[in-house]
Amino acid sequence: MASEANDERAAEGDLGFLDDVLNEEQVSFGSSDRDNHAGDWGTPEEREVRPSAVVWPESTAEVSGVLEAANARDMPVTPYAAGTGLEGNATPAHGGISMDLTRMDSVLDRRPEDFQIDVEAGVIGSAVDEAVGGDGLTFPPLPSSGDISTIGGMIATDASGMQTVKYGEVRDWVLELEAVLADGTVITAGSKAVKTSSGYNLKDLLVGSEGTLGVVTRATLQLAGRPEQIRGGRAIFGDLEDATAAVFDAVRSGVDVARIELLDDTTVAMANAYLDTGLPDAPMVFLEFHANHGIEEEIEFCRSLFEAKDVERFEMAAEKEEMAELWQARRELAYAVDSYDPDLTPLHPGDVTVPISKYPETVRYIKELAAEHGLLVPCFGHAGDGNVHYSVLVDPADEADVERGEAVYGEIVERAISWGGTATGEHGIGQGKREYLKAEHGPESVEAMRAVKRALDPNDTLNPGKIFPETAEGKRVRAPADD
Ligand SMILES: Cc1cc2nc3c(=O)[nH]c(=O)nc-3n(C[C@H](O)[C@H](O)[C@H](O)COP(=O)(O)OP(=O)(O)OC[C@H]3O[C@@H](n4cnc5c(N)ncnc54)[C@H](O)[C@@H]3O)c2cc1C
Repeated sequence: MASEANDERAAEGDLGFLDDVLNEEQVSFGSSDRDNHAGDWGTPEEREVRPSAVVWPESTAEVSGVLEAANARDMPVTPYAAGTGLEGNATPAHGGISMDLTRMDSVLDRRPEDFQIDVEAGVIGSAVDEAVGGDGLTFPPLPSSGDISTIGGMIATDASGMQTVKYGEVRDWVLELEAVLADGTVITAGSKAVKTSSGYNLKDLLVGSEGTLGVVTRATLQLAGRPEQIRGGRAIFGDLEDATAAVFDAVRSGVDVARIELLDDTTVAMANAYLDTGLPDAPMVFLEFHANHGIEEEIEFCRSLFEAKDVERFEMAAEKEEMAELWQARRELAYAVDSYDPDLTPLHPGDVTVPISKYPETVRYIKELAAEHGLLVPCFGHAGDGNVHYSVLVDPADEADVERGEAVYGEIVERAISWGGTATGEHGIGQGKREYLKAEHGPESVEAMRAVKRALDPNDTLNPGKIFPETAEGKRVRAPADD
């Protein structure tokens, strides 16, 4: 056993089989390890569930051994990486084993001539950039949490980030995966070729499956050349409508922008309070441009579009440090919103994404709804993708306030879906968005998803309690005969 006390092992049933697969430093039944794996960043304390054990496999063979043995005993296994998920994705909803992948953190091979890298799943995202920086390469779709979350977690949630508007999401940069299925079978999905039409696309099935179909152990990632020129800055508007319309115009016009992020005035006020930056409490659009040539033309074109929308200040930095300074309010946002008012707590993180033509309307709708209900709802996020992050702030001690907040939160998701959007642009369904799955995809599609889950994991031992609406009532997604 790991160094922690093993006092609760007897109470947790027979997990002795773990000793046959892993050595004692790789298994813990200790309270603090179990507490540390009881929820992710987005799991409120009252929804945390302690696993019976935490294991740290160090090879694909060990992942396979644990899964095979657990499956034979009908024991749930929930993959857990850095725990930065925002929808309770890695919370072990049915207890069992939390499988922590962070010790599988090696860079296995670099092939700069092919723009490729092979990594184990537990590698932190920014470590990929560090590994290939010397080759003049980069992994472009890193999320904002890229320096605290793992490649495996990003693949499992199909993460995306500020640069997705130019480069796409994580899915677009994964070429090949090694994964272990619920019964311990090891598969390779995808190919090291940049295109393939061969067979069912199991790679894309695994990407975004939130650890419910397989545990990713290794990935071959596509890389991009680092741009020679990078320029960034921000645009300050007097009016939120102008800011969102400017974003739409920029995307529609095809301006070659690598990042385009909105902060509404409420969010800027929070950033000001947190950072003491002295910025005007006005809506802002943060921009970054990447190019090997012609960057000034792109910037000037963007400036002209923004001027047509009455931008008040359009500030582009000349130097890297100045750029970092201009972007500071955007970077520190998550902490600024969380710590704004000690009496107010953000409800679940909003992550709706809509077709870009609906972007201005979506932000307007959220602000109107917030005003109507007297709630503080900062809006921000990866505007160029039509992705609106929003936090409904409520007083947790006030039941009516919480109820109002929940209703507003849900109305926003439903409206986004009705406009052809999605409940979650990048965080996944996890536990937080299960109730919207049918509305977004329709009952037939959800049934097809269920059939896939049952085919690959008939006992529902891999991360049970996620994605499917019925799991909110504690049900498992087992083969129909067992229902
Ligand atoms: C401050 C902050 C900013 C964020 N910004 C963004 C953002 O810009 N874009 C974005 O997309 N997300 C963002 N997130 C959310 C989060 O960082 C991502 O979802 C991230 O991909 C999760 O990675 P992780 O390593 O922490 O995984 P975890 O949270 O540990 O797990 C996430 C899911 O992946 C599964 N999983 C983990 N590893 C594996 C594996 N090897 N095989 C199979 N399944 C696995 C888990 O079971 C779980 O379902 C942010 C979070 C925070 C706290």
